[in-house]
Amino acid sequence: MPSHLPEILSQLNADMRSDSDWGEVAAYIPELAGIAPDQFGIAVATADGQLYSAGDAETPFSVQSVTKVFTLAVALGRSGDQLWKRVGREPSGRAFNSIVQLEAEEGRPRNPFINAGAIVVTDELLAGRAPRETLGEIVQFVRTAAEDEDIHINQRVAESENAHGHRNYALAHFLASTGNLKNAPEKTLGTYFHHCAIEMTARQLAMAGRFLIDSPQLPRMIMPPRIRRLNALMLTCGHYDGSGDFAYRVGLPAKSGVGGGILAIVPGVASVAVWSPGLNRYGNSLKGTEAMALLARQMGWSIF
Ligand code: GLU
Repeated sequence: MPSHLPEILSQLNADMRSDSDWGEVAAYIPELAGIAPDQFGIAVATADGQLYSAGDAETPFSVQSVTKVFTLAVALGRSGDQLWKRVGREPSGRAFNSIVQLEAEEGRPRNPFINAGAIVVTDELLAGRAPRETLGEIVQFVRTAAEDEDIHINQRVAESENAHGHRNYALAHFLASTGNLKNAPEKTLGTYFHHCAIEMTARQLAMAGRFLIDSPQLPRMIMPPRIRRLNALMLTCGHYDGSGDFAYRVGLPAKSGVGGGILAIVPGVASVAVWSPGLNRYGNSLKGTEAMALLARQMGWSIF
């Protein structure tokens, strides 16, 4: 790993803090609405075992939709390609919580990273298991990936979203009406809100993302063909209707969440987690996206 990475990260941290436009925090989840937007942390875990960070890399944040990468990995491990009968693999070109597309496409969500798709993946994971067991399995996967047992679900965030998640309830009820939900909407959504409410620091998330680097130097949690496919979905669908823009600006597979986190993968090289809670108009971290673009350019990191 180039020796100037620590300097690049600390310069990025300084650059991000010198600008006053931090974006807007996700206010539709009341528990997240009070978070100060002017925070920024970044961490890079490399295939050769190094960890570099700058800024607020030790502040826990709600990973929200970044968890969808981990739940998809667990669901594919359990159900294999059967899962694709229930959810597609195409970019949506729509907002993360769009209802209109789900109706137009008769209840088969475009991909597993938009809300409707992740609700179906969660429903699939509940087959033959109680919510508590399913959540235990997801959290254990994340802890194993991060080699860190100190990763937990924030109950207050999960409850706050459950009490105000009307759009997600609309999506789940629509899925149920088309036969693409096997469990009661309350049960599937309760599980979904809880895994979205996992908290991690940027350091922990960068460590957890290493299972997607695909390097012989790292312990293997899933097989390489599946790693490549998860990365392909992250590139094409990981930033909702901002996925094309992120691929153009950054050129790396990545998944965002409305908590302001982004997990990006440099295949064969590193896992990068960046966090800044203010969002851009697509619901992706404003400063996180800017920082990823700068980091990728300065490091020469791109899959293209
Ligand atoms: N729990 C959030 C929701 O369902 C996740 C969305 C996101 O992070 O993009 O609205």
